[in-house]
Amino acid sequence: KSGFVAIVGRPNVGKSTLLNRIVGQKIAIMSDKAQTTRNKIQGIYTIPEAQLVFIDTPGIHKPKHRLGDFMVETAYSALREVDATIFMISADQKRGRGDDFIIERLKEMKSPVYLVINKIDKVHPDDLLGIIDDYSKEMSFKEIVPISATEGNNVERLMDILVEQM
Ligand code: GDP
Ligand code: MG
Repeated sequence: KSGFVAIVGRPNVGKSTLLNRIVGQKIAIMSDKAQTTRNKIQGIYTIPEAQLVFIDTPGIHKPKHRLGDFMVETAYSALREVDATIFMISADQKRGRGDDFIIERLKEMKSPVYLVINKIDKVHPDDLLGIIDDYSKEMSFKEIVPISATEGNNVERLMDILVEQM
């Protein structure tokens, strides 16, 4: 099993922390899939039965007018071509404009979008219900997975869910 996974979210929600935790190896030689040349590959998660290639979509949280056309096109075309998207938010931050820009793009996606609520170590479990409710009203997610990227809570489960989908 293999697939491309985009990871999107506002700055500082913990995208790099998650990738550093799950990614065992840097990209070496990949297949001739278009993704490899066109998008920024952040790392590869490899287990015996599967390989997930994580890609970055810079600028996705910004309004269109603040980005050049090239950036916009690159970010959006990347999202259209992946097999799954992780939309990462931080449990200790309120939904903001950056999140809303991302949600508007994600609504157009045909591949599954997973809401990953990071930094659960910083909040009370009861707070998660409000967050889930808030985001679920905006769009429907394939699954909602609370994690702590620094502590490692639920990170394996997130990988299992993604692998299962591929
Ligand atoms: P990015 O901008 O989305 O790539 O975010 P980073 O991975 O750089 O993380 C931003 C900050 O949040 C760093 O100081 C991380 O150590 C911290 N951070 C990331 N994940 C967690 C988490 O699960 N819990 C806590 N408490 N801090 C986290
Ligand atoms: Mg980062």
